[in-house]
This record gives sequence, C-alpha cells and structure tokens, in this order.
Amino acid sequence: MSNVLVLVDHTAGAVRKTTAELLTIARRLGEPVAVFVGEGVTDVQAALPALGQYGATKVIALSNPELTQFLVAPKAEALAQVAAKIEPSAILISSNAEGKEIAARLAVKLDSGLITDAVDVVAADGGAVTTQSVFAGNFTVRAKVTHGTPIITVKPNAATPEAAETSPEVEEFDVTISDAAKTARIVESKPREATGRPELTEAAIIVSGGRGTGGDFGPIEAFADSLGAAVGASRAAVDSGWYPHAYQVGQTGKTVSPQLYVAAGISGAIQHRAGMQTSKTIVAVNKDPEAPIFELVDFGVVGDLHKVLPTATEEVTKRKS
Ligand SMILES: Cc1cc2nc3c(=O)[nH]c(=O)nc-3n(C[C@H](O)[C@H](O)[C@H](O)COP(=O)(O)OP(=O)(O)OC[C@H]3O[C@@H](n4cnc5c(N)ncnc54)[C@H](O)[C@@H]3O)c2cc1C
Repeated sequence: MSNVLVLVDHTAGAVRKTTAELLTIARRLGEPVAVFVGEGVTDVQAALPALGQYGATKVIALSNPELTQFLVAPKAEALAQVAAKIEPSAILISSNAEGKEIAARLAVKLDSGLITDAVDVVAADGGAVTTQSVFAGNFTVRAKVTHGTPIITVKPNAATPEAAETSPEVEEFDVTISDAAKTARIVESKPREATGRPELTEAAIIVSGGRGTGGDFGPIEAFADSLGAAVGASRAAVDSGWYPHAYQVGQTGKTVSPQLYVAAGISGAIQHRAGMQTSKTIVAVNKDPEAPIFELVDFGVVGDLHKVLPTATEEVTKRKS
C-alpha cells in the first residue's frame, strides 16, 4: 500500500483535531505517515498516542532548530526532502494560512499539482479526488491532481475523526535547510489569550451574531457556551466594533465548515455565505421571514434572537444536566 504523508498540526506535542481528520482521510488513500516538526524528543513522544489512535503507521520526526526558528520556508524544504525519500502517493496538510503557504512552496519544489481548501477527499479514479467549494461558494468542484505528487490542503471538519489504533514507530529524519529558506526569523511568539472556546476555524459548532444583535453578543456567547461552540460574527458586527475582527466569518474573514453553524441576526449576504455555506447543518434565527439566509438553512427560526437564544440556551443547559 502506498504511503500518504500527513503534516502534523500541534502545539508543543498536543495534536490538534485537524490532524486526526487528516489521518482519517489519509487512511482512505493509503498508509498514513505523520511528519512531526517539533523542538525535540519530548514533543514527539507527547504526540505519539494521538497519532497512533488515528492510524499513523510511522512518525517521521524533524527537529532541526531552523524549522521552528524561521517562518514557513524551511518546513517546505524539509517536507520536500521527506517526500523525496518516502515517495508518497499524496501529501495532506491542514488548510490554515501556514499550511497553505507550506503546500504552495512544496508544490513548486516537487513540481506537483496543488489543491487547496478541500472539504472532502476520497479515493477514486485511481487517486485522490477532492471536493471544493469555489467562487464564493457558488460552485462545488471535484478535482484531481494530474501532475506529480498530489498536495492537498484540507479544511477543518472535512472528516469525522475515526480511531484506528496503531503503534507507530518514530524515525528521526535529518534535513538540510538552505540559507535561501532562512529569510524570515521569528523574533517573538506569544500564544493568543485563551477564551475557553474552541478555535473558530476548527470548531464543530459555531454560533455567529450579526447586526441583529444590536451590539449585545451576550445571548450569542451564552448559547455558544451551552453548546461548547465557537463564536463568529458578520462583518457588519465587526465593523461596528461589537466583536473583534479575528472572529469575522466570510469572504474577507475566516472560512469555516463546522458540523453546525447558527447564524443569529445575520441577513445572509453573499460575502457572509462565502465563508460558511459548506457548514454541514445551518440554522438561522432572524426576525425577518424574507431574510436571504433562510434560502440556505436546514432549520430556520423566525423571531427575535434576544428571546429565541436565551430560551434555546436554557433548554440545552437543562437537557445537559
Ligand atoms: C468586498 C466585500 C467583502 C465583504 N466581506 C464580508 C465578510 O467577510 N463577512 C460578512 O459577514 N460580510 C462581508 N461583507 C458585508 C456584507 O455584504 C454584508 O453587509 C454583511 O454580511 C451584513 O451583515 P449582517 O447580516 O450582520 O447585517 P444586515 O445585513 O444588516 O442584517 C441584519 C439581520 O439581522 C436581522 N435582525 C435584526 N434584528 C434582529 C433581532 N432582534 N433578532 C433576529 N434577527 C434580527 C435583520 O432582519 C437582518 O436580516 C462584505 C462586503 C463587501 C462589499
């Protein structure tokens, strides 16, 4: 069976859910081989149980200091060297800003085709066939790389992680980083202040608020917390200074694809849809029955969000206890 490389997304060895999703997808295509870039043996050992739980057959550990001291380019160079040795049938990387830049640089180095923002990847037609939502979500495209090693960035929540216990061996792999790749040194790195909520682009559930909140995100946050969800916002809410820009969903904000997206007080402008319409289930709360958001929802509630959301929060909390 062919090897499929998966670049591990982690923080100090704590493996992110996106990696479990990539490993699950990799198993459809071949034998998942995880590539772990970290600062040393402790991190990779910490990550090993999670990587084994989702079916990594082997973990290639890269710990050259340049990989974490400089931005992106050394990681692409290192992955190219790993790919030259392993000759994988595909390379899967998370579709975040860093992942997409690594993937693009890697595609140039390997002279390979690149597909970004896949919302699904299946084994078909003798290779990896992806599904993407393009042109502000107006078209769904299936695509396949036809040249070189398929490099695919996969959006969070594209697959439900499925466990497959393995006991991967760790192989230390030494790479050579060129001076040309050491062009942007990281001078400081600070973790973002934790909100206690899941990361917006990775969350399984998102509750977003728009202009209809009138600036009060209290009901949005309370409902999100009852569901263990992340909070999002429309641009109108962000531009009004009601919620930070980092939480904007849409064409000029984050693209999300959760299992459940709740849009409250959001009209459903095309630019907002572009960032959320690949969500698996969409629910809207809007007091205007003619609001365009109702055209794409699975469930719609016509009503005032300040009444509907607290009632829903109370009900969720009651059922959980
Ligand atoms: C180039 C460009 C890029 C853009 N990028 C983005 C983007 O990334 N993301 C984005 O979101 N927008 C983006 N926009 C803006 C977009 O066009 C809309 O203006 C914006 O999405 C509207 O936000 P909204 O739905 O919150 O507000 P509105 O369109 O004003 O809708 C508010 C809704 O709330 C409802 N409402 C009011 N009060 C209540 C209540 N009490 N209870 C329930 N419902 C209520 C109303 O019926 C209405 O439907 C972009 C625009 C441009 C031109």
